[in-house]
Amino acid sequence: MDAVNLLGFDLEGLAAFCEQLGEKRFRATQLFRWIHQKGAADFNAMSDLAKSLRDKLATRAVITALPIISEHVSLDGTVKWLFDVGAGDAVEAVFIPEDDRGTLCISSQAGCAVGCRFCSTGHQGFSRNLTTAEILAQLWFAEHTLRKRLGSDERVISNVVMMGMGEPLQNYAALVPALKVMLDDHGYGLSRRRVTVSTSGVVPMIDRLRDDCPVALAVSLHAPLDPLRDMLVPLNKKYPIAELLDACNRYLDKAPRDFITFEYCMLDGVNDTPELAAELVKLLRGHVSCKINLIPFNPFPASGLKRSPRERVTAFAKILQDAGLITTVRKTRGDDIDAACGQLAGEVQDRTRAHIRMVRAPVKAPGTEQDSPQ
Ligand code: SF4
Repeated sequence: MDAVNLLGFDLEGLAAFCEQLGEKRFRATQLFRWIHQKGAADFNAMSDLAKSLRDKLATRAVITALPIISEHVSLDGTVKWLFDVGAGDAVEAVFIPEDDRGTLCISSQAGCAVGCRFCSTGHQGFSRNLTTAEILAQLWFAEHTLRKRLGSDERVISNVVMMGMGEPLQNYAALVPALKVMLDDHGYGLSRRRVTVSTSGVVPMIDRLRDDCPVALAVSLHAPLDPLRDMLVPLNKKYPIAELLDACNRYLDKAPRDFITFEYCMLDGVNDTPELAAELVKLLRGHVSCKINLIPFNPFPASGLKRSPRERVTAFAKILQDAGLITTVRKTRGDDIDAACGQLAGEVQDRTRAHIRMVRAPVKAPGTEQDSPQ
């Protein structure tokens, strides 16, 4: 029998596993703390567990991180890791230190099936869902590695964002136990406000998340009109903007914050005009309690897209702000190590031929006959 990786269990799952070993459920809490709070991987180091339990665990279980392919540290302190998840696939996680917080951005899938035009992961296609253990291994490794480097027992990661590779709500079964470990007081003890799931708009799963584990929600919007969003975020054809906003409003009933964050990647000549800013105001003001995060696009050759000039981003933001919508422009971090949003390329064995489909379907700005600038 293969040994089980205990990183794959939330506390309830670990209690059930301990029962299978003939142990009392409360042992699971001790074990869980050793794993997630102390970063232990060696059962022999777990000094308050009975020797008999440690012996059983040694034959039936492991605590195993993902093999690291590379680590890059940016001049601004951002750290990017590339992890091997087997069969030629690799995923990335990024740690972003700031004065008042440490944010870890982690991946939920090897590749992504949604295929957003501006996203480097989307261009690679989809290989497979990560397991709960593979999602949590990114956090477990980053937290305890950074603590050791800083020589500290204090928590380093205060916020987790599911904004790395993949659409987390298309890997729901593995996602929810991972979120529960992040929130558990015996695990990482993060508040719901400090754990964010970012989605391209999988409407039924937004409703399920609201009922099962309502953490902060970010929605990749990127366009205020369906024809344009259909091109940028193909999932929009299935769940158009009106349905998505209805789901956001339902989510707000239980959300830990009283707003939804809308992400809007600024693409030169595609979605950054004053007219589209006005459409965005019409769409959101008075309809959804929200904040808007304008993201400078990080160009990559296959996208055929360019970053909006700074003055166009500023003008777009001003239209939103003047209309009373809380709007920020995201600072880019880790530019020197390609760690910025949308650049989490990893390496994926594309089983969906996404890169070929996208080259054949160039994106066009609304009301133009021209392809977007190359
Ligand atoms: S932006 Fe998110 S949902 Fe869209 S392709 Fe990239 S990883 Fe997938």
